[in-house]
Amino acid sequence: MQGIIFDIKRFAIHDGPGIRTTIFLKGCPMKCPWCHNPESQKKCPERVANNGKKEIIGEKRSVNEILDEIEKEVVFYDESKGGVTFSGGEPLAQPQFLRELLKGCRKRDIHTTLDTTGYVTPKTFKSIMDKVDMFLYDLKIMDDKKHIQCTGVSNRLVLENLKILSKKGKKVIVRFPVIPGITDTEDNIKAVAIFVSSLKNISEIDLLPYHRTAEGKYHHFKKENKMKKMAVMPPTDEQMDRIQRLFKKYTAPHIEIKRG
Ligand code: SF4
Repeated sequence: MQGIIFDIKRFAIHDGPGIRTTIFLKGCPMKCPWCHNPESQKKCPERVANNGKKEIIGEKRSVNEILDEIEKEVVFYDESKGGVTFSGGEPLAQPQFLRELLKGCRKRDIHTTLDTTGYVTPKTFKSIMDKVDMFLYDLKIMDDKKHIQCTGVSNRLVLENLKILSKKGKKVIVRFPVIPGITDTEDNIKAVAIFVSSLKNISEIDLLPYHRTAEGKYHHFKKENKMKKMAVMPPTDEQMDRIQRLFKKYTAPHIEIKRG
């Protein structure tokens, strides 16, 4: 069994509990203009010119090769209560590969986190969710028309799969990308907050501010940077304060609102 990855990050401390190895799987069904990893969106390896140098993004690796990479840091996971995080792109875009990786981690008793948009059929989602210890689950826009307009796809599956996780009582942290003028309207924040509060299993929402560190990638890989065109700037501290206040206003009190 092989899959396509585009990066491995060691000693990651923001992708779940403890010290982690993050495996980035290539391919994403969404096309968010604020994407920090635009090189992740296409499923297949792609040839790009990086400052005039030809480079291939993405490589085929076997499940066993990846598990060997993951195992190298096992002592750090044990000491820090960390583990491995599967991210992307959207890891669920390669469901069989992901399933085998998760099974391999379970067998080795390594904690797993799935960083996901939840955009996959419930049937596929259910075939994977029991093999995952914890989810970092993106919720971006509640209005479906606007979701389609911004990401290219409906949010129906995203919401449905989050409800499935809730019924199962799985551990989930919701991640909300703060994109000024797009996701940070009071209506959207209120709708996200009310929806998340209706679920039983969520005790934390992380607010992830838009930043411009990916601008160089868009430039190097000659991809269109819509955020630059729209002149979207990272949120200021005052904007983040306002957004955090709005979340606190509309979210059930047991849910912690954290700034990422
Ligand atoms: S869902 Fe995430 S990886 Fe996919 S395009 Fe949007 S920001 Fe990028």
